[in-house]
Amino acid sequence: MQKYICKKCGHVYDPAEGDPDSGVEAGIPFEALPDDWVCPQCGAKKTDFEPEDAPMPGMVVPVGE
Ligand SMILES: [Zn+2]
Repeated sequence: MQKYICKKCGHVYDPAEGDPDSGVEAGIPFEALPDDWVCPQCGAKKTDFEPEDAPMPGMVVPVGE
């Protein structure tokens, strides 16, 4: 699953591990985190996170469905 990295502190959210300190079980995708979830390290909002590995330029990723 896609990991997300905090743009402010570099903390990585790994869905395989979840965020036990915040009550997030392992296996929860970043997109499924509650909107009030914040970075466990610096308190940044979800909007301050970005996918850790951006798709290669020219690589088309189907969206939706
Ligand atoms: Zn952070």
